[in-house]
Amino acid sequence: MFNKRLILTMNKEMKHVKLQVLFQILSLVCNIIFTFLLVNLFSKLIYNTLTFSILLLNVLLIIIILLIRAFFLKQVSSCSFNSSTNVKRKLRKDLFEKILRLSNSYNDSISTSELVQLATEGINQLEVYFSLYLPQLFYSVISAVILFITLSFFDLKSSIALFICVPLIPISIVLVQKFAKKLLSKYWLSYVTLGSSFLENLEGLTTLKIYGSDDYKQKEMNIEAENFRKATMRVLIMQLNSISIMDIVAYGGAALGSYLAISHFISNEISLFATLLIILLAFEFFIPLRQLGSYFHIAMNGIAASDKLFYVLDIKEKDSGSKDISGDINIKFEDLTFAYKNHNVLENLNLTIKSNEFTAIVGESGSGKSTIAKLIMGYYQKYNGNIFINNIDRNLISDDSIMENIAFINHDPHIFKGTIKENIDLLNIYDDLEINKVLEEVNLLDFVNSQNGLETLVLENGSNLSGGQKQRLNIARSLLKKPNMFIFDEVTSNIDVESEEKILNVIKKLSKSKTILMITHRLSTIKDCDEIIVLEKGCVVENGKHNELINNKKTYYQMYEVQKELEAYYE
Ligand code: ADP
Ligand code: MG
Repeated sequence: MFNKRLILTMNKEMKHVKLQVLFQILSLVCNIIFTFLLVNLFSKLIYNTLTFSILLLNVLLIIIILLIRAFFLKQVSSCSFNSSTNVKRKLRKDLFEKILRLSNSYNDSISTSELVQLATEGINQLEVYFSLYLPQLFYSVISAVILFITLSFFDLKSSIALFICVPLIPISIVLVQKFAKKLLSKYWLSYVTLGSSFLENLEGLTTLKIYGSDDYKQKEMNIEAENFRKATMRVLIMQLNSISIMDIVAYGGAALGSYLAISHFISNEISLFATLLIILLAFEFFIPLRQLGSYFHIAMNGIAASDKLFYVLDIKEKDSGSKDISGDINIKFEDLTFAYKNHNVLENLNLTIKSNEFTAIVGESGSGKSTIAKLIMGYYQKYNGNIFINNIDRNLISDDSIMENIAFINHDPHIFKGTIKENIDLLNIYDDLEINKVLEEVNLLDFVNSQNGLETLVLENGSNLSGGQKQRLNIARSLLKKPNMFIFDEVTSNIDVESEEKILNVIKKLSKSKTILMITHRLSTIKDCDEIIVLEKGCVVENGKHNELINNKKTYYQMYEVQKELEAYYE
């Protein structure tokens, strides 16, 4: 019923929970006083001792006590509101910060759709755990003790009977929970499965349509939806059944207490006042626990979500070094061997990227080109051999310093929904003049000005821009940062010839003053490079200038000839 780690994590937020319990207890005390006053009036009425002044006084007191109680109940709901907003804010913040720290490697451990579900539905359920369930749990125990002590002055036996019945409710909750845990994790799994299929199919709808595979996927999703429906129904049935069990215990317990009180009254052991008091307060024993039962299931869902949350929060972050790099950038790989799992991708690789030179890495698809870029950027830290950036071991350099100095641009730029300005100046720190300048450099200024200038709206994923425009926007974004080195990984793949030319011009201009690493499989784009490195199955097989490599008549020459033929064929 408790999740220790969850409570420790929320140490600060527990203040609201405690306050909420306090106000609940105060309103219970009001309730007890109210019942006292009512029973007093009633027994006086029966014994004909009620005078007008007593009636007036009691009614007045009842009104006052009800007002005070209303005030306390209002406090209860405002505490609950506070803890619910704080919990949501804190958990989402923790989760978001963790994902930022993990940056692009979070996807190795959890899918984006699962993460979204965790951050929304999962955290909403956890909020119920804190704002409703936990305070109610404390309150139910304390209220049972207070009522027991109060009533024991009037009739010890029936108070003991009521008090003994109380734990039956949590016992039944625990039993249900044992059974429910498996059911709930199945429910969560089917929910997540359906959610991610839905998201994926929606994103790939065009592809599915083209291949006529939408029907098939729909059937697949129908099965998943059916599984989810069944899991939901099972959870609902369990919830209903457990509520019935709790009702039986609650009503049965209250009936037993009242029966004992009445029989003690008949045998003249207790007064009418005590009897009425016990009958009216008997149900109070069980109300809080019954209420607890109704929060219980959402709270348990929350606990299931918290397991997932902690799983994410516990994902090991890669260590970032602390050294900074600055100035012109040069890079050296020494005897570098790297494997994804057990599959060697780079083997005893030696290469040098000199500062302020234009270096290209070429090679067939799958030869390990992008892996080299990712190793420089620090995506992976486990490798044999050395990577030096400005003669400092890569693993000792802070990721922040790398991000500041090296711009990594790949073939799939991320464009956000918003304006052109917001997309380029993500931090909102540059002035329009500077932004216009970089737009001019990538040849996008005329287009932007023909629309709505910097305020031109860009749709989600840049769907109202062409592939070339998106890439140019992305490059403009990196130019603004003025890094010392650029890594371009297949930046002109899948875009129109016109944009390709414009992008190549930008790169050429940059190469005059910055270190450039250009990864490409299109040899025609790198003829003027200072150095071309030819990669084959993770090894450098050749390097040199274009003309030298052509004269070598080896791998590069063969690749070049094949591409020339292909290009001639298409023209
Ligand atoms: P290139 O950029 O030259 O096309 P990559 O460096 O992307 O090649 O990939 C080199 C090899 O590593 C390929 O065989 C690819 O299948 C494999 N690979 C790439 N990324 C991963 C990954 N995240 N997990 C496992 N294998 C990968
Ligand atoms: Mg690649």
